[in-house]
Amino acid sequence: MDLYEYQAKELFATHGVTTQVGKVVNTPADAQKAAAEFNCAVVVKAQVKTGGRGKAGGVKLANNPSEALEKATNILGLDIKGHIVKKVLITPAEDIKEEYYVSFLLDRTNRTFLSMASVAGGMDIEEVAAKTPEKLAMIKIDPLTGVDSTKALEISVAAGIPQEVQKDVAVLIEKMWKLFVATDATLVEVNPLVRTNDDRIVALDGKVTLDENANFRHAENENFVDTANVDPLETAAKAKDLNYVKLEGSVGIIGNGAGLVMSTLDVVAYAGEKFGGVKPANFLDIGGGASAQVMADGLGIILSDPSVKSVFVNVFGGITACDAVANGIVQAIEILKSGSNYVQRPIVVRLDGNNAQEGLRILREAKPDNVEIVDTMDDAAARAAQLAAGVK
Ligand code: GDP
Ligand code: MN
Repeated sequence: MDLYEYQAKELFATHGVTTQVGKVVNTPADAQKAAAEFNCAVVVKAQVKTGGRGKAGGVKLANNPSEALEKATNILGLDIKGHIVKKVLITPAEDIKEEYYVSFLLDRTNRTFLSMASVAGGMDIEEVAAKTPEKLAMIKIDPLTGVDSTKALEISVAAGIPQEVQKDVAVLIEKMWKLFVATDATLVEVNPLVRTNDDRIVALDGKVTLDENANFRHAENENFVDTANVDPLETAAKAKDLNYVKLEGSVGIIGNGAGLVMSTLDVVAYAGEKFGGVKPANFLDIGGGASAQVMADGLGIILSDPSVKSVFVNVFGGITACDAVANGIVQAIEILKSGSNYVQRPIVVRLDGNNAQEGLRILREAKPDNVEIVDTMDDAAARAAQLAAGVK
């Protein structure tokens, strides 16, 4: 889960990483008011989950409240790489002497944590890495020993931070690491980390990615969820613990196993080309041990999507054998039919793998409404696409 800058800065503040927390607002009038309250020059910053806001005109200095009003008017509603700005952060402006870069991240390739740090901050760090790689220090962090004051100083020195502020930067680096560990982050990045004219070290920007797998031990993470920008079907699916992603098309997809579902999306999109570009409506992996209830929950979510015209249930029986899945489908349709807002849509089922014959027998015998059995994945995809296109 990626956080907004203002959320990252709230975490910085709680963990002693020096920053200007500022105030988030969503109207120009409130931006003016916030600037008046700070009673100094401020920066108006677009809150979108993408980098390069400065270059895109999403970060502007305002010398007084009326300038803050004007800048906020320009920035709110701006489209930055496909993200529409709905909120701006107002922070007291700092006078910058130098801009540095510091980050901690999970380095999956090398199976370790990594700190990247550079005296050349402010700009795109990818650009620094490409053009002047000698200015970007990359230091592995042993997860068992972590970052103490010695290690933090090593990072600060390797980054080429000027000697006068090396120690102060190290103090902040050590706190960034503590935050990284305490919040179960996979990324904590400050760009720029600035040295002000009066030699204070301040995090002017912040990017934090939290590991959602650790949410169970961070009840507070719920406050970071961006409900306004989440698809309502995805929210409903999440509430039922389903691994669902909404897509643009009209063929609802259910499968067991992420790999199978991914290839199902491809096969349906391919088959759909013959029917004027029919596409999958979603990704939904109901996992290995799919009970009737999980199948019902999954079908329920998919059928509550009005853009779904047909459903393709693609199951490869493994630990949960096909007969159990078939019973699940039969019961799921019963459960859904007893609900008030069940809208029938054709359902194409392909079962293969462990106990496939028994599964198919159960389906043929129970004859659940609107269910068609098709033997192979390709044929089933083509049939589902055909039905979605409205061809009988
Ligand atoms: P990004 O472009 O999305 O990374 O947004 P940043 O928060 O990093 O801001 C972009 C640039 O705006 C920074 O590199 C600074 O040069 C400038 N900037 C941000 N805050 C301040 C500030 O308080 N004072 C001054 N003078 N410049 C700032
Ligand atoms: Mn930045």
